[in-house]
Amino acid sequence: MVTHTNKIMLVYPPGVNFMRSEDRCQINVEASACNAPRACNDLGYISAGLKKLGFNNIFLKDYQVEKLSDNGFFTDIKTYNPDLIFISTTNGSIFYDLNEISKFKRMYPGVIIILKGAVFFDIENSLFDQINLSDVDYLIGGESEFIAPELINSIFFDKENIKNIEGICYKENEQWYQNKITGFNENIDELPFPDRSAMKNNLYINPDTNRPIATISTARGCPFDCIYCLSPVISGKKIRKRSCQNVLEEIKDCFLNYNIDNFFFKSDTFTADKDWVMDLCNLIIQSDLNGKISWVATSRSNTIDEEMIILMKKAGCKLIAFGFESGSEESLKLMKKNVTTKQNLTAAGLCKKYGIKMLGHFLIGLPWENASHILETKKHMFEIDADYVELAIAVPFLHTELFDMVNPDKIIQPDNKDKILGKDSFNNTTCCTKALSERELQNYRKSILKSYYIRPSYIIKKLTSKNLNLGIIFNYVKYGFRLLKNTI
Ligand code: SF4
Repeated sequence: MVTHTNKIMLVYPPGVNFMRSEDRCQINVEASACNAPRACNDLGYISAGLKKLGFNNIFLKDYQVEKLSDNGFFTDIKTYNPDLIFISTTNGSIFYDLNEISKFKRMYPGVIIILKGAVFFDIENSLFDQINLSDVDYLIGGESEFIAPELINSIFFDKENIKNIEGICYKENEQWYQNKITGFNENIDELPFPDRSAMKNNLYINPDTNRPIATISTARGCPFDCIYCLSPVISGKKIRKRSCQNVLEEIKDCFLNYNIDNFFFKSDTFTADKDWVMDLCNLIIQSDLNGKISWVATSRSNTIDEEMIILMKKAGCKLIAFGFESGSEESLKLMKKNVTTKQNLTAAGLCKKYGIKMLGHFLIGLPWENASHILETKKHMFEIDADYVELAIAVPFLHTELFDMVNPDKIIQPDNKDKILGKDSFNNTTCCTKALSERELQNYRKSILKSYYIRPSYIIKKLTSKNLNLGIIFNYVKYGFRLLKNTI
């Protein structure tokens, strides 16, 4: 195969630690209650795709998780002298990231910049007015693991092809052009595994086991209609699953080659297809890995049952993250969650029965909500009594139904115009409700999280849980301090 000499940097730039690899959960990790940084799989996928095309001169770095500053970033640029830099951005970090880009573009004007993020999925012209993209050369709004290797190859060797690549924006004579997405890639198995030889896998730790945790993307797409969620927009409503065998091969690759035995099975709703889940669990149980791995996965309370939970547990599942969202039946209905509080309690009861931990995601700040909705959610959170909870304030991401409810033409409060970008779902929220201001929502979030985590029964439960070791206790203390810092 031909080997290309072009130097390519794939980075999460320094700055606020946002979850960048997961376009639907673009959260501020440091401001969250319990989220740990997740591996930079989008960069890993692109590195693997580029290597397949003969690009071997790749520099990959997650400056956020390595806690490196601008100086470290700019020194690396100076030393490595890249031809092209690929940056993964988010709704919340975009202004900061563009500022970083403009700083190094002044020093190295010849370097080609690609910026990837869900915000570029289907750009309306108004977006170009809101953000200054003059230092950026290409935008990727589609699935970058499929798109970026082809785009980078085309930039260096086949410029004419750029016009044919869906899911990107490119510039001609300072004018942006967009190649819209007409469909999603169905065959996820054809992707190489993320290039974990280029990623620092030990940076991403499961706080509950104090072991490195790999993210394994098992499926994309979600058939549900939650009004606040980007997933059905950016990944489609059809679930595109990998074959169970292909997932198992990646688990084995991590286990044998990188000494990783903890996994986060990333999909919009892991339990959406029961047959597929049962097949994967059976494959794991029948493999050499049986009893040697632990994993966590996502669910919603109407897609899980006792039979699944029993088999998931047997195959190594230790924690399920549920989108319980609300304790208000009215809110669950209006947000089109299609679950009830009773279903939430049933699913939680099954997890407790079989000893599977839970992370409960809750959401407040929907346009119709007032104090009583929020107090119902608080009550439901305590009834469920998950091992960890996260409480987000709704962000009206572009292209969601929620965005249409609160966008500048129909905005709830006039002073919120143009405030969608650069905000996050925790401490720097985007919108208020008809009854509550942004500040009131933030105060509710903080006081509920404080009352949940800082109570004797919760702390005693944590400190007397099974398999504790010094590393895990250190993690709990570290996350406890982070929570205190964020809520007091
Ligand atoms: S179930 Fe709802 S919140 Fe979860 S991925 Fe699907 S649309 Fe999004």
